Amino acid sequence: MTPLDILRNVFGYQHFRGDQENIINHILAGGDALVLMPTGGGKSLCYQIPAQIRPGVAIVISPLIALMQDQVSALQQFGIRAACLNSSLTFDQAREVSRQLRQGELDLLYVAPEKLMTPRFLEFLESAQIALFAIDEAHCVSQWGHDFRPEYVELSILHQRFPNIPRIALTATADGPTQRDIKTHLGLDNAKAFVAGFDRPNIRYHVVQKKTAHHQLLNFLKEEGHYGDAGIIYCLSRKKVEKVADWFSKQGWLALPYHAGLDNQVRKQNQMRFLREEGVIIVATIAFGMGIDKPNVRFVAHLDLPKSLEAYYQETGRAGRDGLPANAWMAYGLQDVVLLRRLMEQSEADEQHKRIERHKLESMLGYCEMTTCRRQALLAYFGDHLPEPCGNCDTCLEPVATWDGTEAAQKALSCVYRTEQRFGVHYLVDVLLGKTTQRIEQFRHERVSTFGIGKELSEPEWHSVFRQLIAAGFARVDVEGYGGVQLTEKSWPLLRGEQRIDLRKDIKPKAIRKEKKYSRSLRKTFTKTDQILWEALRTKRLELAHAQSVPPYVIFHDSTLEDIVLQRPQTLAEFAQLSGVGTRKLERYGQIFIEVVDAHVSQYGQPTNTISAPKTDETILSESVEITLEAFNRGLSPEQIAAERMLKPSTIYDHLSQTIEQGQLELRQVIKLREEEIHDIEDNLLERPTEEQHTLKSVFEAFNGAYDYSILKCVRAHIWRECK
Ligand code: ADP
Ligand code: ZN
Repeated sequence: MTPLDILRNVFGYQHFRGDQENIINHILAGGDALVLMPTGGGKSLCYQIPAQIRPGVAIVISPLIALMQDQVSALQQFGIRAACLNSSLTFDQAREVSRQLRQGELDLLYVAPEKLMTPRFLEFLESAQIALFAIDEAHCVSQWGHDFRPEYVELSILHQRFPNIPRIALTATADGPTQRDIKTHLGLDNAKAFVAGFDRPNIRYHVVQKKTAHHQLLNFLKEEGHYGDAGIIYCLSRKKVEKVADWFSKQGWLALPYHAGLDNQVRKQNQMRFLREEGVIIVATIAFGMGIDKPNVRFVAHLDLPKSLEAYYQETGRAGRDGLPANAWMAYGLQDVVLLRRLMEQSEADEQHKRIERHKLESMLGYCEMTTCRRQALLAYFGDHLPEPCGNCDTCLEPVATWDGTEAAQKALSCVYRTEQRFGVHYLVDVLLGKTTQRIEQFRHERVSTFGIGKELSEPEWHSVFRQLIAAGFARVDVEGYGGVQLTEKSWPLLRGEQRIDLRKDIKPKAIRKEKKYSRSLRKTFTKTDQILWEALRTKRLELAHAQSVPPYVIFHDSTLEDIVLQRPQTLAEFAQLSGVGTRKLERYGQIFIEVVDAHVSQYGQPTNTISAPKTDETILSESVEITLEAFNRGLSPEQIAAERMLKPSTIYDHLSQTIEQGQLELRQVIKLREEEIHDIEDNLLERPTEEQHTLKSVFEAFNGAYDYSILKCVRAHIWRECK
């Protein structure tokens, strides 16, 4: 069988993604490879397919003992001969695996590094036929990262003892030092490197100003229809984890805590429930998540600011591994800035490390205060370049207005100066607003020149000014003393009027609520009856999973169930066409799920999708889009609107594509292309699986970039409109 045969017959996928095929061929030809791909990129197939083609057993080294069994179960569901060896097996289980190995009955064996290193096991390997070595989570070899495992360093022995067996090292951690460490420590200097872009286009990034973060999050989750979805909520402290989990449970959500202070048993059980059940929310400290490859985590939320963008990206990356739309949400406020600055200043690290930490913190804060595309900034930070704003982050969807904050900043900073750099933000704001509080009178600050000079802004607006000034280093908080705001070197050019500053207008919660979904989850287009079928399918999946003690997603992914809902397959032949249905799963589960569909159809009939979708609140356009639409209807071109509104043309096209999708404009009003061209693009789009329709990258590439993303988005909007 060729790699493509295996992809189609065993895994039930139609096309390779990105570099998968090249990597597989490289390994098949006996080469070594270093694979850097984002989470959810599809790294596993890169060794799982060669493992089935090359003679002998593939040895997969992974540090994640707790998750090995699930990985093995997932493979077994596809009918692949896989097993694992680690300290969690009973004596009898281990003996059975050894027997299978000796008899050549395995294609893949997952082992923990410490197991691999035992003299006995190495000796055994000498005598066995080995297809390849795959070193998963290869960044664990690097002391630079945060997942360092000493056992990994010893893996260099593989190269010395088995020079002719291909090795493939895989990781989602991208930075330069880690890459170098992997190469040197694992003896992979001559390995071919396959570096994919790090974009996760299906994840939508949101950052909001923190007020009562858990309430804000609850509202967000409700609006986005996340009830019943799996998600992760990160908090900084164990105490907060407990509190938040408790609070969400009281609101009727299934939320479980996870942190290092919990009893081992409880922690394990909560992780297990997250993996095995549907719709569990884990509230966790950062201790949670490494190697969790649950594909249908629909949201990741941060109630506190992560320490670095690396951590943020890794944590948010746990959402949407299946390629379906997912949300990354974060609340951020002044208290986070102060806390992180304090941690940094109190750090015992040497000067060089402090510099690095400071840089990381600045980048994190900069990200929070962005007024331009967040994804572009994130990718730029990791050395990736995204030519156009993404259209799928909060700042793209709801462009942030900025205002000339120079005068306000001057007032704020001189108020700091006049009150002798000893007071916190609340106090300073009171002085600016001219409030005569007891404390102000006590310090006689109703007499300073800045008393009451800030009445043009509201209290929250002044808080926002201070937060932004502090985040950008124009002022600092005295964390060793009493938390007073102080001036920095950067304050003076502002105060002297030599520099000006733009500040972002913080979006009011009302405006956030109006933000509409652009990249859509299929499920959001489900009708009521679709929803009923979806639930019936999920129930069946859970039942099958429980009977075999495996996580539900190893039976079928959500995307496959969504396909079932939309296609309503009635024969095995139809069922075999669905993505994620290989030969083995077809045999085992095809009939069972067809019966669920049959039962549903006999009760509810076939769907009548042809009636246009009901007017839900999705058809209400956001304010910014309305303005664009109004300008377009006045006869302005997208470019003219962009100039008038001081927005990027791509943003305007985003707006227009939304109006096309909502049926308020016709595609051909917006896009001036020849009819054949439009048809070509439509055909290309329609052939793509949903996730590629969402990202558009493959379509863009298929035409060698002849049509830019703005055009593609409009055509896609037109198709989606037609499908409704
Ligand atoms: P990674 O290890 O890179 O985070 P995985 O190997 O777990 O990613 O793959 C992520 C998901 O994408 C898995 O559920 C996998 O089944 C799916 N997948 C991988 N390759 C393909 C493909 N070519 N077509 C469709 N789905 C794929
Ligand atoms: Zn963006």
